[in-house]
Amino acid sequence: MIDFHSHLDLYPNALSLLPRVAQENRFTLVVSTSPKAWQATSKVFAGYANIKVALGLHPEIAVAKAAEKHLLVSLIAQAEYIGEIGLDGSPRFKSSLTVQRAILDAVLAECERVGGRVMSLHSRGAVDQVLDALAAHPMAGTAVLHWFSGTNRQLSRAVEQDAWFSVGPSMIASEKGRQLVAGMPKSRLLLETDGPFATKPNGEPWFPWETASVTTLLCDVWKLQREEVCSQLLSNLELITRGGA
Ligand code: MN
Repeated sequence: MIDFHSHLDLYPNALSLLPRVAQENRFTLVVSTSPKAWQATSKVFAGYANIKVALGLHPEIAVAKAAEKHLLVSLIAQAEYIGEIGLDGSPRFKSSLTVQRAILDAVLAECERVGGRVMSLHSRGAVDQVLDALAAHPMAGTAVLHWFSGTNRQLSRAVEQDAWFSVGPSMIASEKGRQLVAGMPKSRLLLETDGPFATKPNGEPWFPWETASVTTLLCDVWKLQREEVCSQLLSNLELITRGGA
């Protein structure tokens, strides 16, 4: 239906998946992990109006790709969507937070300069820092926090800052994830898979059309029929893809 955070370029059989993704999903946002990857993937994935490739630099590889920061910033003017960007403060990556933050600030400043962008953001272990960076760049555009895993207090703060959220099947596998979803505004929610990084219990990646479990949860949380949930999600999608958010 909707996958607003997919790493479709990283599936072993990415090219053969494209026609099915285009057919099954109303919209798929393919986030890239580096600006060079964005340049390559944008060319290869061109030709499907409902599959967009977002320009990004994944915070987990901020140090390895720091030299691409200028390329990243220089491409923002021509990129319709931005992602994956953000910060990772988990034990494995927190030593590079300074480098990560410099990249994020540069991206947000350029997004402001070019009139704002829709951005898919990673915030694991660094929700407050991501929200601080967004607050410092209020005209950067519409922030979609993907796989949000913060506290209830951080969720409230994100909602106050008018952030959006993309929720996937792996996120709702935990009680904490399901409880966070219940605190997200209906009008600010989208679906995602984060595949092929996010996987099913059997280790197989989630495919971009496999988000039905999230829709089922939303029926329960919102006390709505499946058709009503889908119509809410599609109207959210329409709002954000029109730039009207
Ligand atoms: Mn991701």
